[in-house]
Amino acid sequence: MQAAQQQRLLENLTQIRLRISDAAARAGRAAEEVRLIAVTKYAAIETAAALVELGCHDLGESRPQQLWQRAEEFADRDVRWHMIGHLQTNKAKRTAPVTSLLHSGDSLRLLEALSAAAVDRPLPILLEINISGDDAKHGIAPDDAAKVLDAAAKLPQLEIQGLMGMAAREGGVDVARRNFAALRELRDSLAKNAPDKVALDELSMGMSGDFEAAIAEGATMVRVGSSLFEGI
Ligand SMILES: *Cc1c(COP(=O)(O)O)cnc(C)c1O
Repeated sequence: MQAAQQQRLLENLTQIRLRISDAAARAGRAAEEVRLIAVTKYAAIETAAALVELGCHDLGESRPQQLWQRAEEFADRDVRWHMIGHLQTNKAKRTAPVTSLLHSGDSLRLLEALSAAAVDRPLPILLEINISGDDAKHGIAPDDAAKVLDAAAKLPQLEIQGLMGMAAREGGVDVARRNFAALRELRDSLAKNAPDKVALDELSMGMSGDFEAAIAEGATMVRVGSSLFEGI
């Protein structure tokens, strides 16, 4: 990576961290309550490495093959890998061991496969909820969430930590904010009747275009890709 690109990456990262802490402050929250997941799916591996050097230790990938490769190449760096994209059941076995948190737990079938694949330690996961109602999106329908949560909580090797969602593509920030509020409300209502040992503390929501709205509605993790790499 050239020095100018490194400088630009540092500026982008600094800007985003500032926007996160401003959004948290406006919501009466501490900046530390919101973790930045740097989504490196479109970034070159050198750029991802530069991000780690700059202190970003949570990296997100949406395609399993790239996650596997990069996890292997970064084995001796301090990186927590987040799987944020749809995962086919037959890829659970290779994905579970290299994933710190899987955000895209979008069907009971996948969750069963992940529990079976997580032999060394329970795998931390989020349930992905289709909050926008967009048919093209993956995710559990909000009405099915309680049922899936109960069944998933019985799987021995999963640690269910919360929910993940994506806002509708259309409608701008106002619609996004309503989608995020709906996810938080769903989390609150599930948490009231949650099975033992399931806390649902984490809310993974917000991307480059809408992470401030997500923080206003309680996001504990934002998944930011394109804004980090602007101009690089
Ligand atoms: C790509 C991706 C992101 C990051 O999106 P940007 O708009 O590039 O910030 C976040 N979440 C998921 C699930 C993604 O696939």
